[in-house]
Amino acid sequence: MKSQKILVTGAAGFLGSHLCDTLLAEGHTVVGLDNLSTGNHANLAHLANEPSFSLIEQDICKPFDPGPVDYIFNFASPASPVDYTRLGVETLLVGSAGTINTLDLARKYNAGYLHASTSECYGDPEVHPQVETYWGHVNPIGPRSVYDEAKRFSESAVTAYHHYYGVDTHLVRIFNTYGPRLQANDGRVISNFMIQALRGEPLTIYGDGSQTRSFCYVSDLIEGIVRLSRSSEHLPVNIGNPVEWTILECANEILSVTGSKSSIERKPLPQDDPTRRRPDITKARNLLGWEPKITLRQGLEKSLQYFKDCTA
Ligand code: NAD
Ligand code: UDP
Repeated sequence: MKSQKILVTGAAGFLGSHLCDTLLAEGHTVVGLDNLSTGNHANLAHLANEPSFSLIEQDICKPFDPGPVDYIFNFASPASPVDYTRLGVETLLVGSAGTINTLDLARKYNAGYLHASTSECYGDPEVHPQVETYWGHVNPIGPRSVYDEAKRFSESAVTAYHHYYGVDTHLVRIFNTYGPRLQANDGRVISNFMIQALRGEPLTIYGDGSQTRSFCYVSDLIEGIVRLSRSSEHLPVNIGNPVEWTILECANEILSVTGSKSSIERKPLPQDDPTRRRPDITKARNLLGWEPKITLRQGLEKSLQYFKDCTA
């Protein structure tokens, strides 16, 4: 395809940095934008001498204009429960004011637009696996609401900019994703368990470990997102790995991959922690011809060196 100028917000984060790599490899010019609140320069260090990449340090909640762009990927937002409960009001603002600012840019420059939404829109789901037509089960005043409701507002805003202004929008509902550059200290389960296992510390299981998640390796996820960005679908699409694991099974897989002898330690289950989560990816399969290829074991093995480096 023709080379484009592409804006990626949240570029210094886990997913944003991988997305930049994929777009640059395709020959596009990428402008990354990030306020470095949960991301870091290390995620982009390998692009220091890349002439097609530049980084703007900017909060997307404040007005900004990087000039004409062909496409906007809006990935800026605290994403882990530890980060978004620490940055509660900032998270509400990034999903509201920040999303509107980026949509206004897409409208101004007639750019395509893809927003990183989340399986958290389904809350603690009563429908399993989660299909895109399910409206969700979210506590609007619980501790996770600063994230869930911000993302639900974003989906509404993105849909409205398509409906009222004809912006060419796309919405991906991302399910738990892991891989190199997952921040080592942001409290997500894969990074916590990998680091704990490699240090020989107890793996901290919240609750009894029977809650489930479905883990997607980062390269699978980015491929699905790039395909969606070039589709004509404006409604939300789930992208994630449909293989469901209990958190206890996940802990045991990590002990096996790392060869660790760490014990397991129980900690209290956080309030409103979803009891189960698994994407129905029928829509992505049919629409995009996409499905994940990498198993949890393969993905953990691919991530091992990164987490070893984090513990060094
Ligand atoms: P991350 O924390 O590694 O990256 C987010 C990036 O956004 C960081 O670099 C951070 O500094 C930046 N940022 C935050 N607030 C900002 C602001 N106001 N202005 C500019 N930059 C800002 O998280 P991630 O896992 O890479 O998540 C990226 C996106 O994908 C987020 O929108 C997240 O909600 C979404 N998502 C991720 C997952 C997952 O499993 N990783 C699942 C569902 C949705
Ligand atoms: N979890 C856990 N131990 C940890 C971190 C997380 O048992 O050290 C659990 C958490 O309670 C949740 C699941 O693992 O049930 C996934 O948590 P994460 O923060 O990675 O993402 P979430 O899907 O909850 O946003």
